[in-house]
Amino acid sequence: MTFQGKKHPMARRRQIYEGKAKILYEGPEPGTLIQYFKDDATAFNAQKKGTINGKGVLNNRISEHVFTLLAGIGIPTHFIRRLNMREQLIRQVEIVPIEVVVRNVVAGSLAKKLGIEEGTPLPRTIVEYYYKDDALGDPLVTDEHILCFGWASQEELHDMADMAIRVNDFLSGLFAGIGIRLVDFKLEFGRIWDNDYSRIILADEISPDGCRLWDMTTGEKLDKDRFRRDLGGEVEAYQEVARRLGLFPEGEDSAVLDLESHRKRRGK
Ligand code: UDP
Repeated sequence: MTFQGKKHPMARRRQIYEGKAKILYEGPEPGTLIQYFKDDATAFNAQKKGTINGKGVLNNRISEHVFTLLAGIGIPTHFIRRLNMREQLIRQVEIVPIEVVVRNVVAGSLAKKLGIEEGTPLPRTIVEYYYKDDALGDPLVTDEHILCFGWASQEELHDMADMAIRVNDFLSGLFAGIGIRLVDFKLEFGRIWDNDYSRIILADEISPDGCRLWDMTTGEKLDKDRFRRDLGGEVEAYQEVARRLGLFPEGEDSAVLDLESHRKRRGK
C-alpha cells in the first residue's frame, strides 16, 4: 500500500486522524493510539509546505526523551512508550482546542506584532493561548474567550497554565545545560476521562518543530525557523539538538548515519 507516494509501514492500522506532521492510528488497546511522526513540514498556517528527510525519526526520539523526563518530575503526559523509529504508543485524549505558547525571549509573532526586536529577553515569562482552528489561522485568545466558549473550564485552564510554567522551568534548565536557550515553545493538552471525572494531561509532542531553540554561544537557530525562514540545514539542526540531549550514544549514531546514507542514495 502506498501513502503519499511513500511506502507506509503501518498502513494496515486504522487511521484516526492525519495532521500536518503526524498521523494517529488506532492503538492495540482501548484508550490507546499510535502516534506516527512524518517528515512533512508546514509553516505559516500550511501556506508553506515541505519535507525534511528524517525529521519524524528525530522528533519521535526527542519527544520521547522530553516527555519521559517530564513524567519524572510529575507532569502527567499521554506518552506510554516508543514503538519504533517513527511511532510511539500514547493515551487517547480529548484534545483541548487551545495551543499554549510559553515565551522567555521575544521572537516570531510577538516580535512582529509589537515591533520588538527578536532576541529581547522578557522580564517575566509570558503564557499565551491560541484557539486551534486552521481556517481562522489559530487566533490569539484570552482566558475570557476560552471560558466563554467552553473550550476549557477555569480549573482546566489553571492546570494547563500551571503545567506550562513547570514545563518551562524544567526545559529551560535542561536546554541551558546543553548550551541551548529555550526562547519559546508550544504545548497541547488533552482530557482523559474516568467515569464522570476528567483530568488534563500533556499531549502532542515537544520537539524542535514547536520550540525555538537558539545556540547560547553562536545564536544559531536549532529549530523549525530554519525551514520557515529558508535557512537550510534543518535536519542537521534537529540532529544537533538530539545529539546534545545525549540521544546518540557513542557507536550508535545509527539514526544519523541512516539519514546520511539515505540522502546519499537519493543523490542529495
Ligand atoms: N508554534 C507551534 N505551532 C503553531 C504556532 C506556534 O508549534 O501553530 C510554536 C513555534 O514553533 C514557536 C512558538 O510556538 O516556538 C511561538 O510561535 P509564534 O507565536 O512566534 O508563531 P510563528 O509566527 O513563529 O509561527
